[in-house]
Amino acid sequence: MGEEFLYFCRMEHAKKRILTGDRPTGKLHLGHYVGTLQNRVKLHRTYECFFIIADLHMLTTKNGKEDIQKTAENARHLVLDNIAAGIDPDLATFYLQSAIPEVAEMNTLFQNLVTVPRLERIPSLKDMARDTGKSEMPYGLLGYPVLQSADILCVKGELVPVGKDNAAHVEITREIARRFNHLYGEVFPIPEVLVGDVPTLVGTDGGAKMSKSLDNTIYLSDDPKMVDKKVMGMFTDPNRIRADIPGRVEGNPVFIYHDIFNPDQKEITDLKTRYQKGTVGDVEVKEKLAKALNAFLDPIRERRAHYENQKGFVDEVIYTGTRKVRQEVQKTLYEMRKAMGFVTAWRSIERKASERMKTQSSSESEPAG
Ligand code: ATP
Ligand code: MG
Repeated sequence: MGEEFLYFCRMEHAKKRILTGDRPTGKLHLGHYVGTLQNRVKLHRTYECFFIIADLHMLTTKNGKEDIQKTAENARHLVLDNIAAGIDPDLATFYLQSAIPEVAEMNTLFQNLVTVPRLERIPSLKDMARDTGKSEMPYGLLGYPVLQSADILCVKGELVPVGKDNAAHVEITREIARRFNHLYGEVFPIPEVLVGDVPTLVGTDGGAKMSKSLDNTIYLSDDPKMVDKKVMGMFTDPNRIRADIPGRVEGNPVFIYHDIFNPDQKEITDLKTRYQKGTVGDVEVKEKLAKALNAFLDPIRERRAHYENQKGFVDEVIYTGTRKVRQEVQKTLYEMRKAMGFVTAWRSIERKASERMKTQSSSESEPAG
């Protein structure tokens, strides 16, 4: 590994790297879009992008055989949703986490670079345990940010676009990378987090976070009728029992969505003014929101349909991406093992063992007597 290798490394990192992704637990929704997808679309032409399909992370909240059986199907949905949202499949690498066993080894090597109390302080992990109805924290869920550190650092990711709930995990990654570099030598970049324009999108039920497990989502792949139905059922100002009662706009999910997804500023201002005066009904506000959301989703639906019709296309994207990333991870893991001293330890044992085996075999081949 001489100059040629160093030249290769420099070439390879000509662009800064992004690592982010999703768990294959279903389709992507508007929360994913504003939290991270939007940034992926914006940045994927200037950064080298790796998008993980984090099926090992899925195990932290869903680990039944029936969940794992849905991985392939859900992985296809994730990739389709990303491409439909505007990612050029030629410019990004998608990969399946569980098909790269080296990541699990990196996770093991990182486990002692962070303490249990540090992980216990992360609020998102408690929320996840609660949302999935778990009364006690599984060991793997506590270790979620450590495994995520392995994901980010296995490709030496430098920028991580995620929603707010995930930002604390990237902070753990930074700490682990620094600790590793300090103890064993400079191997990793210290990645930066990039939280989306809307750090956490509220659910259609007014709940703090839009989330599959809370059943308060609007999916990027919902058809127009489904969007109409979900919007009509949305939570608004609970005190406004009649259209002539002045209502609250702040914190009202219908207006939060208008502000984010409706490009018609004049319409929003008019609706807000009339809502606060009690001169517009919820139905009109919701109908206009449904219309704006459907206009936003139409091009996404079109792109989705286009790629969905190409049989095997997303599978090929995942397959070739995973093979490429695996090579990358093997390289990083070797660097880690070398820096930590495992490579030297094993070579030393190997050398002495082979010396002994050689002398034994030569003494065995000598005639007795
Ligand atoms: P869900 O909560 O719907 O089950 P998830 O937790 O499985 O989704 P993840 O794969 O953990 O989804 O998250 C993928 C990315 O989307 C993360 O960066 C996360 O922060 C972001 N994200 C998920 N939901 C929201 C939301 N409501 N608002 C903003 N960002 C979100
Ligand atoms: Mg999550």
